[in-house]
Amino acid sequence: MITKRTTSEIMLLVLSALSALLISPFVYLRYSAGDFLVAIIDALIILVLLAFFIFVYITRQVDKAKFLLATFLAFAITAVVIIRGEGHLYWLYPAIIAFYYILPERLAGIICLIAISTISIQVYPDVNLVDFATIVMSLVLTSLFSFMIFSNYRKTHEQLTLLATIDPLTLSGNRRALDRKLSDVIADQTRQPSTVSLLLLDLDLFKKINDEYGHAIGDQTLVEVASLITENTRSLDALYRYGGEEFIIMPLKINLAEAMALAENLRILVENHKFSSHIKLTVSVGVAEYRAGETAESWIHRADSALYTAKDLGRNRVVAETEVE
Ligand code: GH3
Ligand code: MG
Ligand code: MG
Repeated sequence: MITKRTTSEIMLLVLSALSALLISPFVYLRYSAGDFLVAIIDALIILVLLAFFIFVYITRQVDKAKFLLATFLAFAITAVVIIRGEGHLYWLYPAIIAFYYILPERLAGIICLIAISTISIQVYPDVNLVDFATIVMSLVLTSLFSFMIFSNYRKTHEQLTLLATIDPLTLSGNRRALDRKLSDVIADQTRQPSTVSLLLLDLDLFKKINDEYGHAIGDQTLVEVASLITENTRSLDALYRYGGEEFIIMPLKINLAEAMALAENLRILVENHKFSSHIKLTVSVGVAEYRAGETAESWIHRADSALYTAKDLGRNRVVAETEVE
């Protein structure tokens, strides 16, 4: 199954194709000017860029390709400056920005530091002090500003991604995160089937708690239940808030019987937990193991039927999909 290309892949494909396209007139210009060596170097750079394009297009190994592409470009630009002088330095400015765009800041910083140092040592004997200082300072500042802009951008991006996927009250995953996880798990199952189960957990008679103690205590109880579950299932899976007082725990890489045992542990844990507001609370759980080929909706629907049966049988219990009439 072909999954959609990531932004990272598309960005690399566009970057390598566009750079190859923009450099190609220079092969002709250098050749016409009689500078065969640089014409050959430019042609080589284009060939390598096209090879990168094909590599990313076929293998989709983005991280390796990004690092190789940046290293190669830094090396090529440095080599051209060493061979033909500082007139070719202009290419390093957009390249520095591109390095910070495609690589983690530290890695980009190291590549820039090596390229700038090598070039500085190389041009030092050929230019006067003012020109030398201008070259070094402008390169260092371009690198420094790129570092600051892109690390700021990445931090903001991480924070926004986190905000878009967590439920602000319980800090568990929200519906968006759950939907994404479900489609990832099902895509994995299509590629390589394995045992995977989920729990659908609903607080018993929660409306009564709101009615008797108020909405704020209800909220506080939801938060406590969520952290109780997270603390006791951390290494196994993730917790998602499916609805108001319903949670899904998945993907449990265990079979139905093992997932039942885990659910039973959680049920007992909540039943025995001393909530800060001294209320008594229980939960009902529906358990379903994934069946090859089914959709996320059908998987959750089976867990929901089990949960419905648990409520029907008197609540505070765990029911498996197979026990549903
Ligand atoms: P059952 O055992 O059948 O599940 O009974 P219940 O009262 O828990 O079920 P029902 O689905 O009828 O009610 C769920 C209640 O959960 C309704 C709503 O007031 C409450 N609820 C949903 N989301 C929140 C929330 O974010 N905060 C608070 N405090 N209450 C919530
Ligand atoms: Mg309920
Ligand atoms: Mg409910």
